[in-house]
Amino acid sequence: MVRDPLHDGHGRRISDLRVSVTDRCNFRCQYCMPAEGLPWLERAEVLSFEEIERLVTLLAQMGVEELRLTGGEPLVRRDFPALAARLKRVPGLREVSVTTNGFLLERDAEALVAAGVDRFNVSVDSLQRDRFYEQTRRDALERVLAGLEHLATFPEAHPIKINAVAIRGFTEDEVLPFARFAREHPYEVRFIEYMPLDGDRSWKADQVLTGAEIRAAIHAVYPLEPAARDPHATARVHRFADGQGRIGFINPVSEPFCGDCNRIRLTADGRLRTCLFSLHETDLRAVMRAGATDDELERTIRSAVWAKELKHHVNDPGFVQPKRTMSAIGG
Ligand code: SAM
Ligand code: SF4
Repeated sequence: MVRDPLHDGHGRRISDLRVSVTDRCNFRCQYCMPAEGLPWLERAEVLSFEEIERLVTLLAQMGVEELRLTGGEPLVRRDFPALAARLKRVPGLREVSVTTNGFLLERDAEALVAAGVDRFNVSVDSLQRDRFYEQTRRDALERVLAGLEHLATFPEAHPIKINAVAIRGFTEDEVLPFARFAREHPYEVRFIEYMPLDGDRSWKADQVLTGAEIRAAIHAVYPLEPAARDPHATARVHRFADGQGRIGFINPVSEPFCGDCNRIRLTADGRLRTCLFSLHETDLRAVMRAGATDDELERTIRSAVWAKELKHHVNDPGFVQPKRTMSAIGG
C-alpha cells in the first residue's frame, strides 16, 4: 500500500527513520549516560517487535526509505537480529542500518549480515585502551576492535563507518591516530561534534571540538580534499589526497544541517520525536495500544511531523536541553 508522502510544515520530505529498540546499554559513555545508568523502562513499556514493525511499515508507506536501528545499545535487545530481519522485509525500505558500540559484534555480526542489514556504524572514541575506558567507563577496546574486525570479514557489511564523539580536551590526541586508522583500514571514521544530550547535563559550548579544527589538524599532516556530498547526508566527507581512505565530519553544532533534515525518531517506548532536541513528543504507543487503525495512526503521525522544528537552538541563548538524553532518544 502507498500513502501520501510525509512532509513537515517547512516543506521537508521525511524519508529517514531512526528507531531506538532499547534504552538499555552495556556502556556508560561520559557524553551520553551517567555512571550509574538511568532508570530503565519496564518491559511492557518497550514497543514489541510487532508494534515496531507496524509503525515502520506505516511510515514506509508514507515514503520512509531509510531505517536506522539504534538505542541504547541495540545488540542488547533479545533476538535483535530477528527484529532486523523482520524490518528488512518491510516493503519500500531501501536501507536498514545499525548503530552499535561493537561490544557484541563478535557474537552478532554474522546474524545481522544474514538478516540483511545494509550498513553498520560502530562507535569508537579512542584507540588507546585507558582512554577508551575513561570515556566509556568500560575496559572494552580490545573486544570492540575484535568485533569490528569480525564484521569486516563480511563483504556485505562494507563500507563500515566508525563514529567518534569530538570533545575538546579529549579528542585532540585521537585525531591523528584515527586518521591513520582510516588510512590503514577499510573504515570511514567520522567525528561527531559533542551535543548537549549528555546524561550528566554538564555539556558546555567550549567542549565542542569542531569538525573544522579536526579537519585542519589532519590536513596539515595528511592532505584532504572534499568528496561529493549528498544533500541529506549529515557528514561532510573528505578523501585523503593520495587516495588512501576517507574521513567524515558531522558538525551539528558548528555547522547545523537542519535545513536539509529528513529525519524523525521513534523512542524505545514509542514516542515520535521530530528533532534530537525536541521538547515535545507524540505518544504513538498510547494511540496504538488504544486500538487505533492504521489510518488513525497515520493522522497522528502527520500532524506531529507537520510541527517538526525548523532548526535546533543549541547555539541560541535560551537553549533548553531536552529531558531525554541521547541513550533514551536513540542517536
Ligand atoms: N549504543 C550505540 C552506540 O554507541 O553506537 C547506539 C546508540 S548511541 C546513543 C548513538 C551515537 O550517538 C553514538 O555514535 C554515540 O557516540 C553518539 N552520541 C551519544 N551521546 C552523544 C552526544 N552527547 N553528542 C554527540 N554524539 C553522541
Ligand atoms: Fe551506550 Fe551508545 Fe550511549 Fe555509549 S553512546 S552509553 S554505547 S548508548
